[in-house]
Amino acid sequence: MFQTTQNRVALISVDGDPSAKIGQEEAGGQNVYVHQVGMALAEQGWQMDMFTRRSCPRQTTIVPHHPNCRTIRLNTGPAEFIGRDHLFDYLPEFLAEFQKFQQQQGLYYPIVHTNYWLSAWVGMELKKRQPLIQVHTYHSLGAVKYRSVGHIPVIAIQRLAVEQACLETVDCVVATSPQEQKHLRILVSYNGRTEMIPCGTDLQKFGGLPRLEAREKLGITPDAKMVFYVGRFDQRKGIDTLVKAVAQSTFRDEGKVKLVIGGGSCPGYIDGMERDRITTIVAELGLEDITIFPGRLDHSVLPYYYSAADVCVVPSHYEPFGLVAIEAMASQTPVVASDVRGLQFTIVPEVTGLLAPPKNDVAFAAAIDRILANPSWRDELGVAGRERVEIAFSWNSVGSRLSQLYLRLMMQAAEQYQNQTQILAA
Ligand code: UDP
Repeated sequence: MFQTTQNRVALISVDGDPSAKIGQEEAGGQNVYVHQVGMALAEQGWQMDMFTRRSCPRQTTIVPHHPNCRTIRLNTGPAEFIGRDHLFDYLPEFLAEFQKFQQQQGLYYPIVHTNYWLSAWVGMELKKRQPLIQVHTYHSLGAVKYRSVGHIPVIAIQRLAVEQACLETVDCVVATSPQEQKHLRILVSYNGRTEMIPCGTDLQKFGGLPRLEAREKLGITPDAKMVFYVGRFDQRKGIDTLVKAVAQSTFRDEGKVKLVIGGGSCPGYIDGMERDRITTIVAELGLEDITIFPGRLDHSVLPYYYSAADVCVVPSHYEPFGLVAIEAMASQTPVVASDVRGLQFTIVPEVTGLLAPPKNDVAFAAAIDRILANPSWRDELGVAGRERVEIAFSWNSVGSRLSQLYLRLMMQAAEQYQNQTQILAA
């Protein structure tokens, strides 16, 4: 017997565990998004069950976060880390486990919100088997990503086909920036419904710490020019561009620049190899004395780094949204970022930071130096960044907008059902 709760939502993120440690092994923005959206909607009274796959034998099956929100890990393939490009063959097992869970618990989810193309496939298959409303957030689009990476994986054909079918068949796609909305139309399909609801950030956690206090805590001197990067070690993040840019900074000669590159990595894994590559470039350019690699930065310490920095740099070749940029802005730190997709939306050039062409270390060096040379302008950019984030990017407002979308889709589905039954009765 199914327990039909109209406000029950399955937030599916096969590859991005919302309870994972963030900052390494493909755990980044998507994991944060799913967790924060789950919590924000739980606060608004929705029953949020966040489904992911078990990636380690020691992981517990159910992790409660809030009376209305929990992570549920389904057994899918071996209980070990499997890269996104190798997960597709395990999806039928995930689907079967999801259905088994519903049956065993006597639960039914009228709304399924899927994340990334792998989960889109699960949602679309589920929709063939039971009535539901599917909302989807892509996080990353193959059609855009494959234009900016050298290596195109074997799974690309499958991914592009699923992404197109998803846009054309699900009830609504949530684009996180107007740029994504445009790309969906130009590069994926003219059919299908989209709505723009951005990602958010935690306004309490980020912001509010004076720069000097944060520096004291981290042991960074008041006169240092601190350039900060945080994120996964992944070639598409363009960390090499940042290192080459810092090597050209005029402040390097004055001995004032401090380059902090935060993010976790595991030796032997893809992120470990990228970290080794970056360490080699740092050594080749003679930047070892001024560069610090603090490793994975937990959110309990990350706010100190954002607040201490003079500038936060996001040099990605491709960035669907870029949570790091709005976390830095919330912390009143200006951002120098690549002039690509999500970053074109979050950063207002000359107002909250600066944009530079991706992979162009000369342009990045010039932009970083403009901010380092002018502390009062740096502060103005910081204040404007905080204002922008308060207005446009809080998780609460993201949660409210998603909640309204779910309600509208439910009303429309109910109306459609009513119309159909009237036609059949006539
Ligand atoms: N992050 C973190 N610690 C680290 C590295 C990254 O907490 O050491 C977090 C960062 O604060 C942000 C997320 O990981 O919330 C990265 O999201 P973003 O959208 O910038 O990049 P993605 O990982 O999705 O490519």
